[in-house]
Amino acid sequence: MIVKFFPLGPAQTNGILLGCSETGKGVIIDVPFEGGELLLKEAEKAGIEIVMILLTHSHWDHIGDLALLKRKSGAPIYVHQLDSENVKAPGADGLPLILRVEGVEPDGFLTEGQVLEVGKLKLKVIHTPGHSPGGVCFYLEEEGLLVSGDTLFQGSIGRLDLPTAQPELMWESLEKLSALPAETRVLPGHGAETTIGAEKWLKNAKEYFGG
Ligand SMILES: [Zn+2]
Ligand SMILES: [Zn+2]
Repeated sequence: MIVKFFPLGPAQTNGILLGCSETGKGVIIDVPFEGGELLLKEAEKAGIEIVMILLTHSHWDHIGDLALLKRKSGAPIYVHQLDSENVKAPGADGLPLILRVEGVEPDGFLTEGQVLEVGKLKLKVIHTPGHSPGGVCFYLEEEGLLVSGDTLFQGSIGRLDLPTAQPELMWESLEKLSALPAETRVLPGHGAETTIGAEKWLKNAKEYFGG
């Protein structure tokens, strides 16, 4: 498997490229500002054809170059329905936009438990609301990899003071993630990678971050 991630744009949001080495098929997860051209170039360099664009959620810093990437790659966009309105009409979620974001129509919706096949890679959708209603993580069980969006960071969690946040749901979502194998490699929406086992507070997240 090919795994690359790049902190991009004003919020240093990770744009993630996953590719199946056997089939040359790949996926881009989240498309920050500066990410449209760069992620596509990196895919080309690695000999990967992008067959799908996935979103962990629709906050502006994760969709800055989404419309551009869709135009350039022709790949379909998938997002959870509860986060889809802000993809079509950026700013609809009530977060102030510090840069203009072009809206784009998603091609399909992600649902809890759904398994997306990209070449031989299988990405399981885990619905993890809390930071945003349609927040999801992508779990590749065979590869031991989790793409956690803004739900789980190294040593921290996504902001709960935003108009899209529902703290009570966040604690449930983090509990779900705490059940994954300890050695699972975690690629978050911001910052450095970690593992499930390294985040020892996960099972008691509410006590640590619940205020
Ligand atoms: Zn976010
Ligand atoms: Zn973010």
